[in-house]
Amino acid sequence: MYRTNTCGELRISDAGKVVTLAGWVQRVRKMGGMTFVDLRDRYGITQVVFNNEVDADLCEASNHLGREYVVQVKGSVAERSSKNAALPTGDIEIIAQQLSVLNASEVPPFTIEDDTDGGDELRMRYRYLDLRRNAVRKNLELRHRMTMEVRRYLDSKGFLEIETPMLVGSTPEGARDFVVPSRMNPGQFYALPQSPQTLKQLLMVSGMDRYFQIVKCFRDEDLRADRQPEFTQIDCEMSFVEQDDIINLFEGMAKHLFKEIRGIDLDQPFLRMSWADAMKYYGSDKPDLRFGMKFVELMDIMKGHGFGVFDNAAYIGGICAKGAASYTRKQLDSLTEYVKRPQIGAKGMVYARIEPDGNVKSSVDKFYSQDVLQQLKAAFDAQPGDLILILSGDDAMKTRKQLCELRLEMGNQLGLRDKNKFACLWVVDFPMFEWSDEEQRLMAMHHPFTHPKDEDIPLLDSDPAAVRADAYDMVINGVEVGGGSIRIHDSALQAKMFEILGFTPEKAQEQFGFLMNAFKFGAPPHGGLAYGLDRWVSLFAGLDSIRDCIAFPKNNSGRDVMLDAPAPLDQKQLDELQLAVDLKDK
Ligand code: ASP
Repeated sequence: MYRTNTCGELRISDAGKVVTLAGWVQRVRKMGGMTFVDLRDRYGITQVVFNNEVDADLCEASNHLGREYVVQVKGSVAERSSKNAALPTGDIEIIAQQLSVLNASEVPPFTIEDDTDGGDELRMRYRYLDLRRNAVRKNLELRHRMTMEVRRYLDSKGFLEIETPMLVGSTPEGARDFVVPSRMNPGQFYALPQSPQTLKQLLMVSGMDRYFQIVKCFRDEDLRADRQPEFTQIDCEMSFVEQDDIINLFEGMAKHLFKEIRGIDLDQPFLRMSWADAMKYYGSDKPDLRFGMKFVELMDIMKGHGFGVFDNAAYIGGICAKGAASYTRKQLDSLTEYVKRPQIGAKGMVYARIEPDGNVKSSVDKFYSQDVLQQLKAAFDAQPGDLILILSGDDAMKTRKQLCELRLEMGNQLGLRDKNKFACLWVVDFPMFEWSDEEQRLMAMHHPFTHPKDEDIPLLDSDPAAVRADAYDMVINGVEVGGGSIRIHDSALQAKMFEILGFTPEKAQEQFGFLMNAFKFGAPPHGGLAYGLDRWVSLFAGLDSIRDCIAFPKNNSGRDVMLDAPAPLDQKQLDELQLAVDLKDK
């Protein structure tokens, strides 16, 4: 038997027992005639003591242990004289009687402790060592518990877990595909699924009624903190449902997760906000509602007073930061620099402080009388000590997005984005389409299988841009943690959708014929949603990036630096695939 107990298990009540532990040497400390070894495994750390006076040979042997050696130690559990309250095992130590080195270790490239000296690149290259660290391992444990709870909840609601293939056909709508060449079909390629969207819809046509899958999805997109080229969705689909049925069931799942994983009771229904309101009041389809600072439009008040920037703007909007009138000139200048950064792109920022006497002091005082500034103050219901920040521009949507960035930054600066506070909402009534400048055509905002709102169907021909969809996103703390829609189940409507999206009937048939044909054989009304598992875990773990809740993530250039992938193929493999590599940019 390698061990009788784990390194996280023994307590004062075990004192006197003879035990065998196995694990990794985290630290060795020599003090007088004693050697102290911190022995670590997944479950914790236990202190082992080698005493020169008890067994000089054994103590000598322990002096040769290095960091990350794998050892087995037999000894008796004893109460410690100096206890360590920070460790669950901190009341005891093991007085060693036997030691065997199961495997030696080279000196690890970084310290494997909570505060490591390893940089990002190094930790990723040696990810298997990084994962020995408590801080990273506990995220994987959390992830495991969450998937167990998801399965438990969905099973209790009658969902079947069904696997769908990873080698599918390429669909050009949406993001770019990762493709896989087929040896048996030379010159032809599979694609890895961006999501099992059409397959889960086919499962509804099959009568499976309620499906889920915790599934890898692949999208060849530029990476950000909350994006990876492969990520995991909790993918779900249901038949004979309306939007409210889905929202209620999956809100139930969110509450179940909050309760079971974080011990938080969310007893109120989640707020619902239309996409149009989210954009108007927060400049984002995923507003962070942990704090206020709702936008106020100021065109009526601020135009027509001779301040050219505002007079010529199509949109003027502001936020009111409570208690921030104490911001110094320097702080305000750096906020202005912040919104002028190319990623945000504002031209400038106007501010107005509410003074202790109620007067308003602004950066554009020479254009505005105190009368007008008082109207400004009233529009925000601002109080002495508050700070109003205003942006303007000639494109309302762009300016709102800039104001959104400013609002989030102010939220950060004022400490209003507490990671232990959760603001959950549904954003509903998304537009069906959005215009793509790049493609010069309408694109589906969610995906082409989304059902338009019944009352907007007549607009499909006359004013497609005004059509709203039965689509919904769940947003928590400004993160889109899930989204879905009611689907089209009528082949004629589906064909029409492809037509609006610029597909010829032949192209639509070629790419999505399997789906439209299936709809001719009794497709039930259906809808669904997918939750982003990585985002949920990082939200619950309080992480800024999804990377640390993924065992082996990719870096920002989509590389796995540990496996050194992607990499060129051997000539032999290329020959088997009948492929030749001829890079355009050499
Ligand atoms: N397949 C969609 C997505 O990946 C989610 C859904 O509509 O169910 O975003």
